[in-house]
Amino acid sequence: MSETMEKGTISINTENIFPIIKKFLYSDHEIFLRELVSNAVDATQKLRKLASMGEFSGELGELRVEVSFDKKKKTITVSDRGIGMTADEIKKYINQIAFSGATEFVEKFKDKADAKDIIGKFGLGFYSAFMVANKVEILSRSYTSAEAARWMCDGSTEFSLTGAERADRGTDVILYINKDSEEFLDEWRIKGILEKYCKFLPVEIKFGTREDREEDGVDSDNKPKYKTVTKDRIINNPTPLWVKSPSDLTDEDYLAFYKELYPFAEAPLFWIHLNVDYPFTLTGVLYFPKVKNDFELNRNKIQLYSRQVFITDEVKDVVPDFLMLLHGVLDSPDIPLNVSRSYLQSDSNVKKISQHITKKVADKLQEMFKKDRADVEKKWDDISIFVKYGMISDEKFYDRAKEFALLKNTLNKYFTFDEYRTYIKDLQTDKDGQLIHLYTSDPGKQHSFVEAANRKAYDVIVLDGVLDSHFVNTLEQKLDKAQFRRVDSDTLDKLIVKDEKIESVMSQADQDKLKTIFEKAINNTAMTVTIDSHAPDHLPVTVTMSEWARRMKDMAKTGGGGMYGFMGAMPDQYSVSINSNHAMAQKIISATEESRQLELAKQAYDLALLSQGMLTGADLTQFIRRSVELAAQ
Ligand code: ADP
Repeated sequence: MSETMEKGTISINTENIFPIIKKFLYSDHEIFLRELVSNAVDATQKLRKLASMGEFSGELGELRVEVSFDKKKKTITVSDRGIGMTADEIKKYINQIAFSGATEFVEKFKDKADAKDIIGKFGLGFYSAFMVANKVEILSRSYTSAEAARWMCDGSTEFSLTGAERADRGTDVILYINKDSEEFLDEWRIKGILEKYCKFLPVEIKFGTREDREEDGVDSDNKPKYKTVTKDRIINNPTPLWVKSPSDLTDEDYLAFYKELYPFAEAPLFWIHLNVDYPFTLTGVLYFPKVKNDFELNRNKIQLYSRQVFITDEVKDVVPDFLMLLHGVLDSPDIPLNVSRSYLQSDSNVKKISQHITKKVADKLQEMFKKDRADVEKKWDDISIFVKYGMISDEKFYDRAKEFALLKNTLNKYFTFDEYRTYIKDLQTDKDGQLIHLYTSDPGKQHSFVEAANRKAYDVIVLDGVLDSHFVNTLEQKLDKAQFRRVDSDTLDKLIVKDEKIESVMSQADQDKLKTIFEKAINNTAMTVTIDSHAPDHLPVTVTMSEWARRMKDMAKTGGGGMYGFMGAMPDQYSVSINSNHAMAQKIISATEESRQLELAKQAYDLALLSQGMLTGADLTQFIRRSVELAAQ
């Protein structure tokens, strides 16, 4: 047995550091395990490095980190076979809080290899053990010939350091779990924490055992026999896909890794492998999922790692907002483990990472567009949401994306912005030289308007996504002389010059009379009646809202906020356009009884409402009754 070598006081600035660690440093107690396992992994990696540099010539043996627990003794132990620590090193690295051993390690070996990737950025990592333990013991033997050492501390600033016996090189950290933290003495809890934080650590992590079935010869019918065997349970995949070189990977590898990350998700559309080492270090794989319109559901699917240690899946600030819908992993040693929101927002590396990701996404999309446009068109409905969101929120991205962003028309033909300008130039330029982009936000509901536009050979694009009212505003600001009008907007006919003017066949007096009849029949101040002259086969009555008013309403709905907010509360204002050249208008004017005139006008008006999905309730019931009566006449 070894005698007491030393007792002492941990050198820290304040006696009260442990309560501070417990309360403020880590809000999440479970991360103690992440910290201890990362330290064990670091110690193992350091030994590997020493061996590769010829500084260690002993047997490496199986280099694993093992986590175990003892419910009766109320302990959790993290063991490694890494470089270990001498008593002096324990004094230096453990007692002098915030003195990172990695600094010295790097100093010593900086010329020999890139020691950068083993720099610990873990701060007070080890002391997080005191969040869950009232006593912590370290039993360690260095890879050098020094004697093993045992360090004990009960969470006060007093510690003891003694010589000890330890058969093998490496370190055990034993936590004597406190009363409040006994929940951690549970197989499923520990396994869960390890799977969350340690799933991709670069050294195998063993935790308990698992049962497996193995072939065991054949039975008398020559069928294979099986036996149950007990195997070590390895928690992690030490060489996840993102640390490998893209040139060694196949599409199947990427798809398999996606499945590993999200077992229940549909296969992704494509992916980007990130691999930067200057001016910051970043690796990772970002997948473009099939998003459809499940906006919120798909957020927070990107996992952030620091040297393969899981940090968080809240990547806001690291990833630009418009790419939050992507899936995958990012790994950067330049992001410290214990990230706080305010840290991320102010850190310049984080900003650079975010800009880099934006650029890479633009590069990838452009490359795909150049290589296989048809494929991009096929995927467009799924990826347009990223592209549009990016174009709305990020100027730089807009400038890249304007080359490959697509507009789809109602005939499912795709155009770049430039192609589309050329396509509509002849028919859809108004007298001020503005290019009128007609669009539909709902091809089903606005079918009659789309058809009317198509009949005039106007083209209509489909903009029916959740972001499209914002997107339209962005495009109007960015594109030269381009205006967007929804097909059912009341300004449509006035805007397009090439629409040759059709004269009204009705006298002005009759037109005035018609207006009065409709106003009386409709009897609603929210409806402004105008008499127009369209072709006889144009609809007899159309009910429209102005492009401006409708867009303001849409913006208010989708959170345009600010000045648009009040629009939601305003009563809707519509225009009712009567086609004086339609046979129905003639019939109303020539009816002799006023009641008959009103009945027909109301019928025509209700039909227009019906086609817009605006006829409901008692009005709908009345309409049906009237229709039946009219049919019986
Ligand atoms: P950091 O990891 O940021 O340096 P920690 O408080 O977690 O801070 O650890 C302090 C130091 O103690 C480490 O840098 C390392 O030198 C040493 N250390 C901790 N755990 C181990 C271990 N399992 N094996 C060897 N050294 C260790």
